[in-house]
Amino acid sequence: MHELGIAMRIADITSKVAKREGVRKVTGINVDIGELAGIVPDLLEFSFKMATKNTSLEKTRLNINIIPATAMCLSCEKQFAPDGFLTVCPVCGTFECNITKGKELNVQSIMSGDEPIE
Ligand SMILES: [Zn+2]
Repeated sequence: MHELGIAMRIADITSKVAKREGVRKVTGINVDIGELAGIVPDLLEFSFKMATKNTSLEKTRLNINIIPATAMCLSCEKQFAPDGFLTVCPVCGTFECNITKGKELNVQSIMSGDEPIE
């Protein structure tokens, strides 16, 4: 379950930012997770609860924003939604496609009250 490691990293990043910004209470963390990042959102939420138990982030909400996968054909530059990792261009049928979106894992912003602090 690599979600726990990711959850701990998110908690770590958040604590550092909160400390730097002098924020006592972080209310929410917005994370972007690509559809193809290989992360199960439910597991990540659960892991985050585990990772932050008895810490200052215990009550912090993790808002997960799923980024849909996008692929681009290298020969005709058509952009399309790939079916998982199988990327076949729907126009010219080539396998030469790049995944352009859907693998991200980013802490997008950190909320204190209603204000984003980063
Ligand atoms: Zn194509």
